[in-house]
Amino acid sequence: MLSKVLIANRGEIAVRIMRACKELGIPTVAVYSDADKTALFVRYADEKIHIGSAPAAQSYLVKEKIIEAALQTGADGIHPGYGFMAENSEFATMCAKNNIEFIGPPVPAMELMCSKIDSKISMIKAGVSVVPGVTEAISDHERAKNIAHEIGYPVMLKASAGGGGIGIVKVENESEMEKALESVRRLAKSSFGDDAVFIEKYIHEPHHVEFQVIGDKHGHLIHVFDRECSVQRRNQKLIEETPSQAISPEIREAMGEQAKLAANTAGYYNAGTCEFMYKDGKYYFLEMNTRLQVEHPITEMITGVDLAREQLRVASGLELEYKQEDIKTKGHSIECRINFEDPLNKFMPCPGKITRYAEPSGPGIRVDSGIYQGFQFPPYYDSMGAKLIVWAEDRPRAIERMKRALWEFQIGGVKTNIPFHEVVMNDPVFKAGIYNTSYIPNNNIMERVVKYVEEKKAAAGNGKKVAAAMAAVETVIAASQSQQG
Ligand code: ADP
Ligand code: ADP
Ligand code: MG
Repeated sequence: MLSKVLIANRGEIAVRIMRACKELGIPTVAVYSDADKTALFVRYADEKIHIGSAPAAQSYLVKEKIIEAALQTGADGIHPGYGFMAENSEFATMCAKNNIEFIGPPVPAMELMCSKIDSKISMIKAGVSVVPGVTEAISDHERAKNIAHEIGYPVMLKASAGGGGIGIVKVENESEMEKALESVRRLAKSSFGDDAVFIEKYIHEPHHVEFQVIGDKHGHLIHVFDRECSVQRRNQKLIEETPSQAISPEIREAMGEQAKLAANTAGYYNAGTCEFMYKDGKYYFLEMNTRLQVEHPITEMITGVDLAREQLRVASGLELEYKQEDIKTKGHSIECRINFEDPLNKFMPCPGKITRYAEPSGPGIRVDSGIYQGFQFPPYYDSMGAKLIVWAEDRPRAIERMKRALWEFQIGGVKTNIPFHEVVMNDPVFKAGIYNTSYIPNNNIMERVVKYVEEKKAAAGNGKKVAAAMAAVETVIAASQSQQG
């Protein structure tokens, strides 16, 4: 087993990984910036090393400082979490050179999967189903127009090195192409340092269904079932659930096999996620995220597999604790990402001091959080402060449980997107489980959240508080539904 693990990340995911280390008896090292001096993950760790000032480019993204911290503390493993170093093969290579185990997949698998173009080429060869399109970088708009004409508009322009929903643009017709190509290439260059952009067919209102896989260094690789992540705003996930309501048992089985094929083609081990779009009985491989995923807890809730623990065991050279036939699912799980953003200010990030903080608890509730009462939530990083995860015997009960948990969750001093989640959990379309990736715009969810928050404020002003606010949600939804006919 690894003897000491440094977590090259911050916030809730750093705490999550340290918890797994603790249960395995592995001491932990936190690295932190000026902005995180008093953060929960720094307090949780056995040792802590300051690595620079607040901007990530001067701390969490400085590879040399992180490696130096590991050498200084004698950590023989580094867990990158998600974001930051997680999909950085250069960093993984540096770890290897310093005899530090990078807790993730092998470098060649990371290199292959970090390019959407290269991974698509390799998946096509292996017989994995992908979105129709081209697998070359396009820089010339005449060529782009010819390709788009062949595929048929609308098409999607995508940054090959993209991630986090950035660098994905829909092009409706030929007249938009030149400008769109220019801007995506520029964005790709500035965000990812690589201006390779490719074209694929735009799939109208698909589902985002992904499969968790995990493998060891002894040639065993299994899938740990699916997650439905179609509640997205600007291609970014906000709510995830499992099992997906969209796919049949036959499709589930076929997609699980495709996920394993994709991973095995890349020579994969450790945890990873194969993302697919699903529509009308067809599925298309999108990309593989070569890391632990934000939404991994819902998989843990329905399968009982502790993915972070398995990651640490695999990195230590042990065999997987499970065979494919050991993985069974039970019940239903939903995750709501609790973001610090202000619904009444265009959902802009809303950092600040957390003056009140009380987490929900009781049966079937899990909170993965990086915050506490009194913490100054920094403006420099992701706006996600915590994740609220519920489990229940079935989907309707999971939704009712989530509503109860959202109601219990008390966060004061800063604005959060909890009202967004309340509106969705009360929405008949979501409850019916018939939503796709266009769910938020198609159902005016953001507008309804604004209205809900305004009514809640007015109700509180009248001294009515919680009950009246909850009633207001129902009123707003009923009104919006009747408007839609
Ligand atoms: P998940 O499926 O795990 O939710 P996301 O795409 O939402 O994956 O990304 C998780 C986190 O990692 C987010 O905070 C996002 O900003 C960050 N991230 C993902 N890909 C990249 C990338 N290529 N460059 C920078 N940040 C990224
Ligand atoms: P990222 O690396 O940013 O996560 P993905 O390729 O995984 O990029 O796509 C993110 C989301 O964008 C998908 O979940 C889906 O909602 C949307 N998307 C991506 N490609 C297409 C496409 N060809 N047609 C329609 N929607 C797409
Ligand atoms: Mg993705």
